[in-house]
Amino acid sequence: MKYQRPRGTNDLTPDRSPLWRRLRHVYEEVVTQFGYAEVDPPIFEATELFARAVGEDTDVVSKEMYSFTDRKGRSLSLRPEGTAGVVRMVIENGLLGGGGILRLAYWGPMFRYDRPQAGRYRQFHQFGVEALGEGGPALDAELIELLVATLRAAGLGELRVDLGSVGDRCCRPAYVERLREALTGMDDRLCPTCRERRVTNPLRVFDCKETGCHEALKHAPRMLDHLCDDCRAHLERVEALLADQAIPFRRDRDMVRGLDYYTRTVFEVHDPGLGAQSALGGGGRYDHLVEDCGGPPTPAVGFSAGIERLLGVVEQEGALAASERRSYGAYLSLMTPAAEPHAARIAARLRRAIPVEVDFTGRSLKAQLKTANQRGVRFAIILGPDEIDARSATLKDLDSGVQKTLPESDLLELIQAWLASEPPAPRAAPGR
Ligand SMILES: [Zn+2]
Ligand SMILES: [Zn+2]
Repeated sequence: MKYQRPRGTNDLTPDRSPLWRRLRHVYEEVVTQFGYAEVDPPIFEATELFARAVGEDTDVVSKEMYSFTDRKGRSLSLRPEGTAGVVRMVIENGLLGGGGILRLAYWGPMFRYDRPQAGRYRQFHQFGVEALGEGGPALDAELIELLVATLRAAGLGELRVDLGSVGDRCCRPAYVERLREALTGMDDRLCPTCRERRVTNPLRVFDCKETGCHEALKHAPRMLDHLCDDCRAHLERVEALLADQAIPFRRDRDMVRGLDYYTRTVFEVHDPGLGAQSALGGGGRYDHLVEDCGGPPTPAVGFSAGIERLLGVVEQEGALAASERRSYGAYLSLMTPAAEPHAARIAARLRRAIPVEVDFTGRSLKAQLKTANQRGVRFAIILGPDEIDARSATLKDLDSGVQKTLPESDLLELIQAWLASEPPAPRAAPGR
């Protein structure tokens, strides 16, 4: 093979695209039901935006961004996440002027130069929402409910919300100092990265995968135990609202989301059946990010969910039917090139009502009907020399085997009659 896709990228092939489209449809439906408008910022932005919004010393910005210089010498980066671009867009377009809550949703590719592993890609896709203009806990609960509703609509029944708080500007600085002190005392037991984090960004140590660090940190102080009264009340209110909606949750005292901009609520939604890599989506509150990026002071909260992993789970659990049912469609078989104008005319008329695929290959009828069966369509329409002369067509019901030759102007009527009289039995997914 001469060319291969770049390492860590993925092809969306025809066998998987129907499921992809269904998932996208689920997302569109649910965000619409919750009153979120779709937005689509560009996939690259000024590198400086991500450094500012996501945090210069996060792994995402310092190690994983695809950055390049354009022909005018500007440094641009492929977006590693969705929030920074949405926040930039909101400020630039003055979307916050209207008062009330600004509710936005997005779906698209993200890019991180990460070590590729199962279910993780360098070009991956996320959907997410951002809700701006309100600081109260009810909005946090709404977002968690929205994420859970989307996953449930995708067919995933068993879900668990992990909930934490990273504090705010009132209580976090004192906690970070306390943590730094504790880390200094255990310096010899930490990995080199965590020893560095102790200085630059102590909260990051809870992300470490090293077992030595994990052990050492067991008795380190936790943010959850050092929240100020306001942050504690906020968290408890979110929990009460989730309990009201019968959404199962638990407090996770180790949760540190990978990005720096969070304040107060952070959360992840898990499928407990998945084991270690069970997080399907997560997010949190970011009350200072809009201001830090040059906008007016605006509390906000958001989440994102990885589409590739979700697709894998949905596939594995057979949650959405793996194939779009095209059992009401038709496959038009040409027995001679002379039938091409007739086929075009018939297809144009039928497509107003049903999907039609035309076979121009000139293969044998047997071979063409085999393809029709693989496509999972209900009808084959055969056009040979006799049909051309008579302006007729032979319609074959691939479910029942019944076949009839009739004037081409009557085709649609008969197809609709057959569809109405005999609802197609559930068919197996086409074996492509
Ligand atoms: Zn470590
Ligand atoms: Zn606080």
